[in-house]
Amino acid sequence: MPDMRVFIGGTYKDNLSYRQKAYDCLRRKHAAVSTMEDFEASGRTVRDHCKYKLEECTHYVLVVGQRYGWIPDGETQSITELEYEWARACIEPGNMQIFFYELVEGERVEALDNQQKLDAFKDRLYRECSPRTFRNEDNCEAVLERSLSVWFDRQPTAVAVPQTTSSYQVTSTHQATGMMQSGVVQAAPVGASLIPANLVTLVQGFVRLFSPSVHAELQSSLQQVIQKINSMTPKEFEDFLNQYRFPFNIYHTTDAGIVELLEALTLLHFAYGDWELVPSDNTANLALGSQGDSWIRIVHSGNRYVSMPKAIFELRKRILKTKSGQKAKQEGGPLLPNRLILDNFISDYTLCEECGNRLGGGISFSFTDVLEDFTQSPDARDFTQMNDSFEGLEKTRVCCTECLRRVKSEASMEQQIRDRIRGLTS
Ligand SMILES: [Zn+2]
Repeated sequence: MPDMRVFIGGTYKDNLSYRQKAYDCLRRKHAAVSTMEDFEASGRTVRDHCKYKLEECTHYVLVVGQRYGWIPDGETQSITELEYEWARACIEPGNMQIFFYELVEGERVEALDNQQKLDAFKDRLYRECSPRTFRNEDNCEAVLERSLSVWFDRQPTAVAVPQTTSSYQVTSTHQATGMMQSGVVQAAPVGASLIPANLVTLVQGFVRLFSPSVHAELQSSLQQVIQKINSMTPKEFEDFLNQYRFPFNIYHTTDAGIVELLEALTLLHFAYGDWELVPSDNTANLALGSQGDSWIRIVHSGNRYVSMPKAIFELRKRILKTKSGQKAKQEGGPLLPNRLILDNFISDYTLCEECGNRLGGGISFSFTDVLEDFTQSPDARDFTQMNDSFEGLEKTRVCCTECLRRVKSEASMEQQIRDRIRGLTS
């Protein structure tokens, strides 16, 4: 089953270490895993994202902790219970595994009304499926390992999926950002693809959303993208990913952003004919066209709650530490001279020109106005380096990948699609 993809759901706040155990366990079995940490963002609400990502998965693991979880505005159920309902609608019962934390007598971390909702949810899980319970981390690990092993052995056509690369940075401590981490990344066999086959299947699904007249061409673009990535050494690809995944200085899950990268590169290959991943100078990590006609900087957020201004200020800070950045500052030139393509950022304070104009209700988009609004917002509280103005950022041009992907429903003729992609990225 090369496209087996497991969604790990569950309450967030109290539950990271338990979900981490499920994640580790599944990765040890070489399953592709989707978690709420590596959702793509922008354009959709958290609720819609969650549903969308679930529908892409074939298997579902739910780990419920001691809390009922966050209840989205306008809903009476928590996102966790909603997610469970969506999973029941789109995933076969045999492909679901439910685990929950068993409270000991008198133990309670929730306020009373949420505790009642949590109890009702657990009763429901008992009625509708056969959940397994755990009491502490050791017990949790044993329960997960046992249940998921049995589950995996029963999968009729399960095949091991190669790991993404042989040399991802692996750390064992949890980062404050709540990124899921795998402690079990293994070396890929020599000559193995840097791109797991199951991820390629997901991108092929994306390609099929385009007009049939360009399917063959887009599939061929995808194959060339994979070939080109595989011509890199694992170290080179890892270096690129470290410049591509935001925040830049922490560990991201092995698969985080790979599908999104393949989707973007497939479209860019289709529009420009050629491209090159380039060693980053902070302003560019991708050259488009055989002559390097256009340079861009592509960045994927590992956390769907991050807004674009945070990434822009971080890039500005990094660039100002370089010689070329200092030179640009002295000469009053742009600090981010190349087009930025931003993926998986939340749509609040979007800096994408297309989105800004589309959502602006007739008010034309202004990059610096959005930055200004952001700095006045509560989101900017922990953001001290913004005080030194937006100088050098005025000419920055951003396109989000939602807009890039939307080309599939905006154009159907080959040349139209090419023109549209070029329009958004050059
Ligand atoms: Zn956009």
